[in-house]
Amino acid sequence: MMRSILVLLACACLISCSQKTEVKTDSKVAYAMVIHGGAGTIKKENMTDEKEKAYLDKLNQALSVGEKILQNGGTAMDAVVETIKLMEDSPLFNAGKGAVYTADATNELDASIMNGADTNGGAVAGVKTIKNPITAARAVYEKSVHVLLTGEGAEAFAKNNGCETVSNSYFGTENRLKSLRKSQAKDDQGNYINANPDYKYGTVGCVALDKNGNIVAGTSTGGMTNKKYNRVGDSPILGAGTYADNATCGVSSTGHGEFFIRYAVAYDIAARMEYKKISLKEAAREVIQEKLVEKGGSGGIVALDNQGNISMEFNTAGMYRGFVKPNERVVEIYESKN
Ligand code: ASP
Repeated sequence: MMRSILVLLACACLISCSQKTEVKTDSKVAYAMVIHGGAGTIKKENMTDEKEKAYLDKLNQALSVGEKILQNGGTAMDAVVETIKLMEDSPLFNAGKGAVYTADATNELDASIMNGADTNGGAVAGVKTIKNPITAARAVYEKSVHVLLTGEGAEAFAKNNGCETVSNSYFGTENRLKSLRKSQAKDDQGNYINANPDYKYGTVGCVALDKNGNIVAGTSTGGMTNKKYNRVGDSPILGAGTYADNATCGVSSTGHGEFFIRYAVAYDIAARMEYKKISLKEAAREVIQEKLVEKGGSGGIVALDNQGNISMEFNTAGMYRGFVKPNERVVEIYESKN
C-alpha cells in the first residue's frame, strides 16, 4: 500500500515538474501531424493580443494545409513539405521569409527532411537564394546520392532540380534587422550591450504520420542572429535537428543548435525509445528536461511515434506549437497549464 502511494506521488511529481504538452493515444490513428514555430523566451506579458492572434492563426493555417493532404490519403512527405513551405513564406518565423540576419546582414538558410520509411534524408545548409529551402532538402533526398549539400553547390543543385529562386533581399524584414542591430550594439568601451540576449528561436518544423504508417520529419531555419563564418546549426543535421524512423518516431528540434548537435538530440530520443523500451513521452522528457538542461542547452522538440502519440517538449518559457489528429487539434504558445 505504502509503495503504491509512493509510486503515485513520484508520477505526480514527474508530471507537474516538467514544462510540456503530452498527448497520449492508446491505438494507432489514421494520421497525425505536429508542428513548431520555434521555442525561446516567449512570454504572455511580452506579447500583444494582435501578435498572439497572428501566430495562432498561422499555426492553425499550417496545420490545416498538412491535415488536408493526410485526410485525402496523401503522403507524410507531401504534408511536411507543404506545411513547412507555408511557414517559410510567413515573416513571423525564422525560416524562409523573415529569417534572421548574419553578422553581414545577409540571410543564410538551412533545412532538412528525413523519411522514416527508408531512414534516408536530404539537407541543405547556407543557401541564400532558394525561396523554400525545404523543397531543396526534399530534392537532395529524392534526386541525389548525398545527404547534405552546402552553399553554392546546394544552390546549383536546387536550381537544376526546379526549386524556385529569389534574391537574398527577399528574406529580409525590418524586425529582423532591428534584432541584428540590437545584438551588435556596443557601449562606449566597445563592450556588447546585449551580451546575453533573450533567445527567441523561430525555426519551423513538422512531423507527420500518414495512413500507411510512414513518418516524415522536416526542419527549416535562418539559424541564429548575428551568425558568422558560415555557421551552421542543428537544423540541417540529421540526428540533431531532424530524425525519422518508422520503427520509433520522428523528431524536429528548435533551440540553441550547438547543443542539439553535440548531444544528437533528435536521434537520442529515438535511440532511448529503442534501447530502453520507453515511450516517446518519457524519452523526450529525459533528453529535453534532464540531459539538455544539465548541459545548459535551451530549446525544444516536436515529435510523434508510429502510433500517433505526440510530444511537444521544451525547456524554455514557450514554444509555438500545435498538432492535429482526426477530431483533435491543439495550438499553443506558452507553457502548458495541463
Ligand atoms: N536551432 C536553430 C539553429 O541553431 C535555431 C532555432 O531553432 O531557431 O540554427
